Amino acid sequence: MSLNNTVVQICPHCDSQQELQYYQTVNITLQPELKNKVLSGKLNENTCSNCKKEINIIAGFLYHDMKNKIMLELSVADVKEEKDEGKEKILEDMIAQGYIYRKVYDYEKLVEKINIFDSKLNDLVVQKVSDKMKDMLDESITKVAEIKEDFHFNVFYKKIENGLFKKKISFYCYSNPGQILEVKHDIKNLDADEKTNLYNLEILRK
Ligand SMILES: [Zn+2]
Repeated sequence: MSLNNTVVQICPHCDSQQELQYYQTVNITLQPELKNKVLSGKLNENTCSNCKKEINIIAGFLYHDMKNKIMLELSVADVKEEKDEGKEKILEDMIAQGYIYRKVYDYEKLVEKINIFDSKLNDLVVQKVSDKMKDMLDESITKVAEIKEDFHFNVFYKKIENGLFKKKISFYCYSNPGQILEVKHDIKNLDADEKTNLYNLEILRK
């Protein structure tokens, strides 16, 4: 079941007040058609009944992949979260049943986690490689120019590349969203533990 909620909101374009619906939980196993909306960031987009422009409701939600036992929670940082004991209990039970649960604080991270788990990869190994890539890029950029301001890269998993002899994890990176570059990490350069665990999702479950 995908649960939605109603909120009274004022349209930012024409100020008309209306009731809008948004999702709090999306079950992509039961409603697979919602998955693309999540991936494209259009899950909680509504059309204003008055001016017909788009109103995007910024709200956190739970992404529930029942088939693969994955539960991802998007938390919207600037909205003060009330402690929801009912929800916490449900999540605890799911983790006890072998669910992988991750909480993320930005949308791009949510999409990244979905992509990693769709590729059947262990997200903790991918995160370690991603962190290494980020350190390398951050260091190289400070060496290149006299960049004094706080300059840092965002690094996100893109895909696994299966070559004939080589397998690579590719990431997309940017410090400026207008300039996206791709970096690749050869799987053979992973350390022994990372290699063993890269395709092991079971160790992430209780
Ligand atoms: Zn409007």
